[in-house]
Amino acid sequence: MTFASSSAPGSLGPLFLTGGAVDRGGEDRRSQGWLDSALAAPSTRALLLAGGKTPVAGAALAAPLASELLPELGSADTLVWLGRLDGVDWVCASVAEETLASLAAARGAALAGLREVGAELPLGEAALLTQATAVVHWRRVTRFCARCGAPTEAVDAGWVLRCTAEGTEHFPRTDPAVIVLVTDDADRVLLGANAAWGGERYSLFAGFVEPGESLEEAVVREVEEEAGVRLDTPVYAGSQPWPFPASLMLGFTARALGTDSTPDGEEIVSTRWFTRAELEAEVSSGLIGIPGGISIAGALLGRWFGRELPQPPEAPSIDPNGAGGEQAVPAAGESAGEAK
Ligand SMILES: [Zn+2]
Repeated sequence: MTFASSSAPGSLGPLFLTGGAVDRGGEDRRSQGWLDSALAAPSTRALLLAGGKTPVAGAALAAPLASELLPELGSADTLVWLGRLDGVDWVCASVAEETLASLAAARGAALAGLREVGAELPLGEAALLTQATAVVHWRRVTRFCARCGAPTEAVDAGWVLRCTAEGTEHFPRTDPAVIVLVTDDADRVLLGANAAWGGERYSLFAGFVEPGESLEEAVVREVEEEAGVRLDTPVYAGSQPWPFPASLMLGFTARALGTDSTPDGEEIVSTRWFTRAELEAEVSSGLIGIPGGISIAGALLGRWFGRELPQPPEAPSIDPNGAGGEQAVPAAGESAGEAK
C-alpha cells in the first residue's frame, strides 16, 4: 500500500463544484433581447433561489420550465441567464421564500443549498447552482452604483449592472482567497482551530488576498499571522469557486521552515502538528473535527492523508431503538456534531 506523496506539486484533480461544462455564452448574452428570447423558449429551465436554497428531488435540481412562471419570472429583479447545459437554456432568479416553498411542495421536492447537495448533483447542475448562488447574491447586494449611488439596471442578460445616472458598468465580484496545506520535514500537517468553530475543529490556514499582493505572498502572510510559522515557496494545487458569498478558493501546499508555532489568539485559538495516525485517532474518537464534504480544504487534506479522511463517530442517536445509554460520548461532547 502506498500513500500519495503529500509534497508532490501539481493538480489536486477534479474538485466538487468544478468541471460542469456549462456553456456560458459570453458573446451571446451581450446581444439585445437575449434573455427575453431564452424565457420564451419552451425548454428553458428556471433555477429559483431563496435564502441560498433551491428545490431538489432525487439528487437532481427540480427546476420548473421558465414558461410556466411567466409573466412573474420575466419581471423578477434578479433574473440572469446562466447559459446552456446539454442544449437547454437555464435562467436563475431569486424569489420569496414562501413562493419557493409552495413550488417545491407542489413538485414533491425539498429545498436544499449548494453545501448540502453540491456533491450529489450531476456536475453540470452543481455548476449551475454554484453560478446561480454567486450571481444572485451579487445582484441582490448591487442595487446602487458604487460611484454615485444612483440605481443600477441590469443589461447583458443580467451579467452587468449599469448605473442609470452615468452609465458606468458594474460586474460580478469574485474575491480571491488562498488556502494552504502546511507540512514539516517529517511530513506532519499543521492545522489551526478557529475561534468561530468553538476551538475543536481543526482546518487549513486560509485568508483573503489583499490589494497589491500575489497569491504566494498572501499564503506566506496568512500562515505567519495566524500560526507564527514561516514558509518555503508555496506551490499551487488547484482552485474552487466558493460562493458563500463570493470567494474563489486558491489552494496551495507549502513546507514550513520551522516547527515552532504560536496561534494569533484571536482568529486561531490553537495550532497543532499532526501525524496521519494522530489525526485519524482524534477524529475517529470525536475529539476534533476536520474539514470534509465538498470543500477544497477537505481535498487538500485528503491528498496529504493518502486515503479517505477519517470520519467522526456517529452522532448520538435520537432513534428510541438506537444505542441507548451506553453511548460512548467523547470528552469534547459537542465536537462530533460540528465536524461536518
Ligand atoms: Zn453611478
